[in-house]
Amino acid sequence: MKTINLFQKTHLPKDGWFQGCVLCGVVTGHKEYVSFYRLGSTYLPYCNKYRFYSFTCKDCCFHMRRKRKWRNDFVEESRNMVDIYLKRRKSRK
Ligand SMILES: [Zn+2]
Repeated sequence: MKTINLFQKTHLPKDGWFQGCVLCGVVTGHKEYVSFYRLGSTYLPYCNKYRFYSFTCKDCCFHMRRKRKWRNDFVEESRNMVDIYLKRRKSRK
């Protein structure tokens, strides 16, 4: 099982502990697990291979716990980044 971190690009090194929040781009060390249940059935074939985590800052987490729109945005952003990751992986073969 491979752990994949999703985040917005920042000036920071890609393999560091801190990355840009997927929703607002603020640098954060907090990650949220993105379950395959959240991503949807299209992604189920990958669920034995990967665990996806999205960097999400405290403010965005706070809003996500309260507002559906933020949760939807979170899933949408994560999905986009998972797509990019999977595409990149395929083209490397
Ligand atoms: Zn944020």
